[in-house]
Amino acid sequence: MNTQITDVVIVGGGIVGVATAYLLGKAGINSVIIEKDSVGSHASGFAYGRLGRGVQPGPHTAIQSEGWKIHNEFARILPEETGVDIQFRHRSSLSLAFTDNEVSNLQDNLKLHQLNGEGNAHWVDAEGAKNIESRISPEIIGGIYSEEGADVEPYRLMIALVQASERVGATVRNDRGIGLKTKAGHVEGVLLEKGILSCQNVVLAMGPWSGEASSWINLPLEVRPLKGQILRLQTDEEPFTCSLGWAGNYATSKPDGLLWAGTTEEEAGFDDTPTSDGRDKIMASLLKMIPSVTEARLAQHTACLRPVSSDGLLVLGKVPEIEGVYIATGAGRQGIVMGPAMARVITDLITKDSTSIPIDKFDPSRFAQSF
Ligand SMILES: Cc1cc2nc3c(=O)[nH]c(=O)nc-3n(C[C@H](O)[C@H](O)[C@H](O)COP(=O)(O)OP(=O)(O)OC[C@H]3O[C@@H](n4cnc5c(N)ncnc54)[C@H](O)[C@@H]3O)c2cc1C
Repeated sequence: MNTQITDVVIVGGGIVGVATAYLLGKAGINSVIIEKDSVGSHASGFAYGRLGRGVQPGPHTAIQSEGWKIHNEFARILPEETGVDIQFRHRSSLSLAFTDNEVSNLQDNLKLHQLNGEGNAHWVDAEGAKNIESRISPEIIGGIYSEEGADVEPYRLMIALVQASERVGATVRNDRGIGLKTKAGHVEGVLLEKGILSCQNVVLAMGPWSGEASSWINLPLEVRPLKGQILRLQTDEEPFTCSLGWAGNYATSKPDGLLWAGTTEEEAGFDDTPTSDGRDKIMASLLKMIPSVTEARLAQHTACLRPVSSDGLLVLGKVPEIEGVYIATGAGRQGIVMGPAMARVITDLITKDSTSIPIDKFDPSRFAQSF
């Protein structure tokens, strides 16, 4: 058995785990990231990469808005620190409505955006929408146009974050966490398939696999995988002027020259293989938004798993009963934007034992109450 001692062990090398290693490193704390596959090889590396500003009132508003702020800092700092171009760019969006019901849902949404100070999001009728992007379907009734928001290339972001973390003292170890070593209510280390890593603090950032840690902490963690697929397409079209969205689907021209389109929401357990059914559904929604994209060639087809909790809220904070254990998961469809803010919360809790970001609703022990 191989025994080493470190300040913090982070189980999971997705955006939540690696951003935590980076922010801890900036605060002078060394960490080891334990990753069973490879860093960024799941949802964090293969997401769409849309970054919303977090303007809709709700339990996640503060954390989204903090995530938005941190991403803007990352966009400045990470390329400088690592030389990796993360392809961050401010990018406007057009959310489309094809039915009266969709119009009323989007208009309710717009009111919430405006209430929360997103001044430039506004309603456009069909003609206004066509003036913004002439290739959208003639069948649309209208939509919301917003100049807010940005996107990033998630895999490049992960590469940059790992490199930047290593520069401030983090290391990555390929292994699988299988349990915790505890003594008198304190964590003393993480049990790995290939040894034990002794430490004072453990961060469980295991994404959709977080439920595996329930038995480690003696607490039910109701987090499940929700599969989503994305197509990257080569087309002869000129790049689209903005990011397009409709009923949970999206499409945008990325700096790699490809048109990225998604997505699906599938309850498929831990199966993350791309399927022809997923491809056909995404193509159908893409053609509904942009009927002219008939000649697209498939360059890449990916599938990955979002971590979703049973009540749709984050699971974020200290684990009760075992001193020194923290959990950060459950970001669902918004983990790229919220991940760095979740990392900020965990870093605050480890370094200051408190955080100014409201996290009461994300209490990791809340699932025990429904038992
Ligand atoms: C199709 C799709 C599109 C998306 N688009 C967007 C978007 O545009 N914007 C946005 O904000 N979000 C988006 N998301 C959501 C986002 O990708 C996820 O919420 C986020 O990546 C989750 O990050 P994570 O670090 O919690 O989990 P993950 O990325 O899953 O990372 C967890 C890591 O932990 C490792 N792990 C688990 N258990 C163990 C163990 N026992 N030992 C060692 N390692 C372990 C895993 O191998 C994995 O690498 C999208 C998701 C999907 C599926």
